[in-house]
Amino acid sequence: MSETQPRNVIIIGSGPSGYTAAVYAARANLEPLVFEGSVTAGGALMNTTEVENFPGFRDGIMGPALMDEMRAQAERFGAELVTDDVVEVDLTGDVKVVKTYDKTYTARSVILATGSAYRKLGLPREDELSGRGVSWCATCDGFFFRDKVIAVVGGGDSAVEEATFLTRFASKVYLLHRRDELRASKVMQERAFADPKLEIVWNSEVAEIHGAESLEKITVRDTVTGDLKDLEISGLFIAIGHDPRSELVKGQVDLDDEGFVKVSSPSTATNLPGVFAAGDLVDHTYQQAITAAGTGCAAALDAERFIAALD
Ligand code: FAD
Repeated sequence: MSETQPRNVIIIGSGPSGYTAAVYAARANLEPLVFEGSVTAGGALMNTTEVENFPGFRDGIMGPALMDEMRAQAERFGAELVTDDVVEVDLTGDVKVVKTYDKTYTARSVILATGSAYRKLGLPREDELSGRGVSWCATCDGFFFRDKVIAVVGGGDSAVEEATFLTRFASKVYLLHRRDELRASKVMQERAFADPKLEIVWNSEVAEIHGAESLEKITVRDTVTGDLKDLEISGLFIAIGHDPRSELVKGQVDLDDEGFVKVSSPSTATNLPGVFAAGDLVDHTYQQAITAAGTGCAAALDAERFIAALD
């Protein structure tokens, strides 16, 4: 089944970037159609507890409540929300084609806002304790670990940067790394080695995560000897990278080496006319709800201008 008239704009994704794009596009009378995704509608913040750094909420707000507000705001201005997955697109022509499993839609412009997935360790209890001691974002959650003992997993620039940043709050930070040398840049390493609160645990990986209501301890495996030991910590920051959800547009939209969508900053334009991208799907660096919302706004304004030029 397919529609006859192309829509003005289709937005793929329902995190802060997708919903913000929807609010702006709806208020510009573009009648946006938003695909929210079937499993993770609302985006990454649906998996967290308190969000304390989104402006406008002085006492903080729970992640799912924040996303409900954004969703309701987009609906209030007339955005059409479909809780379904986009499974195929053809974005190369003037009329963009967007398919779900059972329906085909067309539009004059498309905003890509599918976010990126934090890499997980793949251990039992990891998901249940997310927001309860297990975190993927030092900027977001570091503040909750004042005077606590915590660990960071990883060995690249972002892991070492997060570990160093977290020593501002924690009484002690273990940096667990699988090998006996770090991949991070020399400057970053020297800063880490000089930090009295930071201890690097070489040749180590997390074997188990323990805790009933919140994280209590982890079991660490020595990657050389196989020996196991417990580490009592109240925070575990997993910094082993993230994978942008760009599979859908691969081969059509230009991606960088790590799979993030390339845009001509400061605009949100991709290499394809009428196709814009926002949020964590394009962002290596900031990966925050407010920055995703900011580029979602920019994408809607870019789409609005693009459509105005067609008319
Ligand atoms: P996302 O929020 O990831 O949303 C992407 C959306 O795309 C999802 O709705 C998904 O369903 C949809 N989608 C993907 N593929 C398809 C498809 N094929 N079809 C249809 N829909 C699709 N940031 C902060 O600022 N403060 C915090 O306190 C904070 N805490 C966090 C805690 C956790 C546990 C995590 C994981 C992240 C946290 N972040 C926080 C980061 C923040 O959540 C992200 O930066 C932000 O959500 C990115 O928004 P986005 O719109 O780009 O993508």
